[in-house]
Amino acid sequence: MEIMVYIAASLRSFTDRVPRIELSAKSVREALDVLTDRYPEAVKGFFDETGDLRHFISIYVNDRDIRSLKGIATKLSDGDELWLIPAIAGGAQKEGEEAPAKKPAGGSVISAERMKAVTIEEKQIERYSNHLQLKEISIKGQKRIMAGKVLIAGLGALGGVVAERLAAAGVGTIGLADFDEVKLPNLQTQTIHSTRDIDRPKASAARDRLKKLNPYVSSVLHQEKLTGDNIEEVVEAYDLVVDATDNFVSRYLVNDACVLHGIPEVFGAMYQFEGFVTVFAPGGPCYRCLYPAPPPVGIVPTCAAAGVMNALPAIIGGLMATEVLKLLSGSGEVLIGRAITLDAWNLQYHAVQTVKDSGCAVCSVHPVISTAMDIDYEDFCGLKENPEEEPIATIEPEELARRIAEEEPITIIDVREPHERAIRKFPGTIAIPIGQLARRQNELDPDTDTVFVCREGKRSILAIRTLREAGYEGPMFSLKGGLEAAAQIIFPNEGAWL
Ligand SMILES: [Zn+2]
Repeated sequence: MEIMVYIAASLRSFTDRVPRIELSAKSVREALDVLTDRYPEAVKGFFDETGDLRHFISIYVNDRDIRSLKGIATKLSDGDELWLIPAIAGGAQKEGEEAPAKKPAGGSVISAERMKAVTIEEKQIERYSNHLQLKEISIKGQKRIMAGKVLIAGLGALGGVVAERLAAAGVGTIGLADFDEVKLPNLQTQTIHSTRDIDRPKASAARDRLKKLNPYVSSVLHQEKLTGDNIEEVVEAYDLVVDATDNFVSRYLVNDACVLHGIPEVFGAMYQFEGFVTVFAPGGPCYRCLYPAPPPVGIVPTCAAAGVMNALPAIIGGLMATEVLKLLSGSGEVLIGRAITLDAWNLQYHAVQTVKDSGCAVCSVHPVISTAMDIDYEDFCGLKENPEEEPIATIEPEELARRIAEEEPITIIDVREPHERAIRKFPGTIAIPIGQLARRQNELDPDTDTVFVCREGKRSILAIRTLREAGYEGPMFSLKGGLEAAAQIIFPNEGAWL
């Protein structure tokens, strides 16, 4: 059977950057075999040590999750499309399982009493006239929007777009959760913040912007780091939550708290040119149903490391804001039980069904999680060292600079991708992108100290783990903080170093 396999952007490091692969296979298993024969690096990315497909990758045949079909034994027909969608970009409905509600019972998350309690001033009628003219929203929908309390977790590129749209729409209370500060590289994508906001907390910079946009909206700041101990208290004050965070710890935290309190969550994620949007709500699947476990640290780079095209947040954030407005106004088809992915660069859009996992740790009939306080999220996401695993040795930038200056024998491996090396060069290194390491380990000298460098110091750790698994036994070190931390120390005279 001739089929087409679509590889999400964050998995393309395993397929030599190829986004679409035509191949011939009778089943999903056979297709994966053909794929991994053609791209041996993909074995480690797609499968865990026991040979099972990794939990952070969902596979769809056309729009159906293979878990709702026959798993990897699912048969393929001519012309089928196989979509590999990992966490960051994901989704699917079990056969015989009840179809999830397309919107919460009663239509809107805002009750009729709360809607009736809202009064609209003359000025607001003028301000909100666009929505008042839409029969799908009209006066009742607008009042529901005005009664709404929405928490936005993460005020980066996506959260910023959603916050501005919701404020302009007249959402009554907007919670702004972020403990980070605005930095220069944020400004290209995070247009809620301005140049003069650099070094200010993102939450208060966002509040000031929203106040200017619409003085009727009240903002509530949450500038503390969200943890298992405080997340439930934060989310329970809201009607719905927007997850616009950029890391797996926050995603599982926000998901669990929303499920435990029965609060719908609008979810969005981006990677380079790709976006993913869905809605989790009682009755439908949750984030853990789609992705029971995060990817191993370093396999899916963060947006900061991988880059994001600056118009993408406007599209993905716009879709997220639309879902919020539908949930508040009680109109339209909400993306519950469905998800969409968009590859903006190749302009490909794909909608999939999302499936509730009957064994989900938090939303199943017999959940193992009853409070977020029970979970060590950092540990779950692999951010704590495993005491059974040999620790990864690191080298400080100062020490590496000294060893280079004194010409001590040392091999430096740059595991970044070619386009990253073009931005910041590191002379005297051997360039081996992380996806090629296992097969090129013969280029390393096991009798010499080998230092792995990447942009942030995360992929270099993954590189060492990969080589350990591949049986390499020489001394290995990860450059602490990556080139971001080391540039000014190792190359103090290189100016802008571009
Ligand atoms: Zn679930």
